[in-house]
Amino acid sequence: MPLSRLHLSNFRNLVEVDLEIPAGVSVYYGANAQGKTALVEAVYTLAIARSFRAENERELVNFDAAKDGELAIVEGVVEDPNDEAARLRVIVGYRVSESTAATGPGYRVSKEIRVNRIRRTAGELVGLFHAVLFSALDIELVQGPPSARRRFLDILISQADSVYLKSLQRYQQVLRQRNRLLRIRREGRAGADEMEYWDGELVKEGAWLTLRRNEVMESLTPAFVGHHQDLSVPGENPQLRYRPSVPLPSEPQGIEDNYREALRETAGREQATAATAIGPHRDDFDISVNGVDMRAFASRGQARTLALSLRLAEAEALSAARGTGPLLLLDDALSEMDASRRARVLEKASLYPQVMITTTDPEQVSGFFGESAFYFEVSGGQITPVVGIPTA
Ligand code: ATP
Ligand code: MG
Repeated sequence: MPLSRLHLSNFRNLVEVDLEIPAGVSVYYGANAQGKTALVEAVYTLAIARSFRAENERELVNFDAAKDGELAIVEGVVEDPNDEAARLRVIVGYRVSESTAATGPGYRVSKEIRVNRIRRTAGELVGLFHAVLFSALDIELVQGPPSARRRFLDILISQADSVYLKSLQRYQQVLRQRNRLLRIRREGRAGADEMEYWDGELVKEGAWLTLRRNEVMESLTPAFVGHHQDLSVPGENPQLRYRPSVPLPSEPQGIEDNYREALRETAGREQATAATAIGPHRDDFDISVNGVDMRAFASRGQARTLALSLRLAEAEALSAARGTGPLLLLDDALSEMDASRRARVLEKASLYPQVMITTTDPEQVSGFFGESAFYFEVSGGQITPVVGIPTA
């Protein structure tokens, strides 16, 4: 379902924004540091219930507003023009408050999510409104740590399938308990009997998550390869491969046995580190081109194209899972791209029902879409609709 309205208060430098977001392609242009990424960050928050870039959610609250104890609010209305009843009003609010913990004065950020006025958890929000974001930070998908690739899969599958996120949350809870027990054991206190229970839970959730991620990775691959070949120079053969820390069996049923076996093998190591050594929280996936590992050897342009191809494959997978295309957010995706490649990306984007594109140079987009896109100027935290086609 498309996002039809967006209201922001005190979200970064976007102090007060009230926008009607059109269906189809809309373009948000402006100089550096005006609020373009803040806008897509806010919109994406409605889908994944958190910021894609803030280390700490306190960063999201406008500096002046935080001093005055005001809230930061992201509010979106998502609606199907043909189905009045399916309307969703999603609000994500952040409040920064002073806290006087034992460690000295600090602050606390609290987040509150409401869907049609009813208080919801982040886990309940994810999956209601679907979005895929491509940003400059996505180079991390290729060259960054394994956690960046795990997050990619987790966000994709969580939006596609709400059972996955529940299982992931349960797994993380089990992991914490099991690691606590490992620490207790290292200190020579008891706990062996409880361990059996937590091992069983770990294997159950972990095995399911591993299989699910592997399955999604396999189903993602053809689209990924196709997009990459469309966007790169001829002769590049990319490959994706899930790298589980628990070996995958030939038949899915065998995974729990493999998992138990692998746990036995790492027991010594776990004893020393008091941390669970294997499982989905340690997995990764390989990205290679013509057999060369791109995590270590991608050129800058290659990394960008691979990351964009992953995002386009993500959007396709979400469309297939949900029966309708997600909102596509392209944040500064076109810089460093030559004109013909840019046109190919925009053509692919235009297949989605709703696309929001940010750029410093509107002509990069208006040259392709002309009057079929809507244009907005972003300047000093204000976002203003523009009549006609902007010129630089
Ligand atoms: P670029 O073209 O360089 O990517 P942008 O338009 O995407 O620029 P944003 O990343 O959206 O810029 O940042 C807009 C401005 O908001 C920046 O000047 C940034 O310092 C500022 N900013 C970030 N967080 C806050 C905050 N909590 N309060 C006030 N201003 C903030
Ligand atoms: Mg930006």
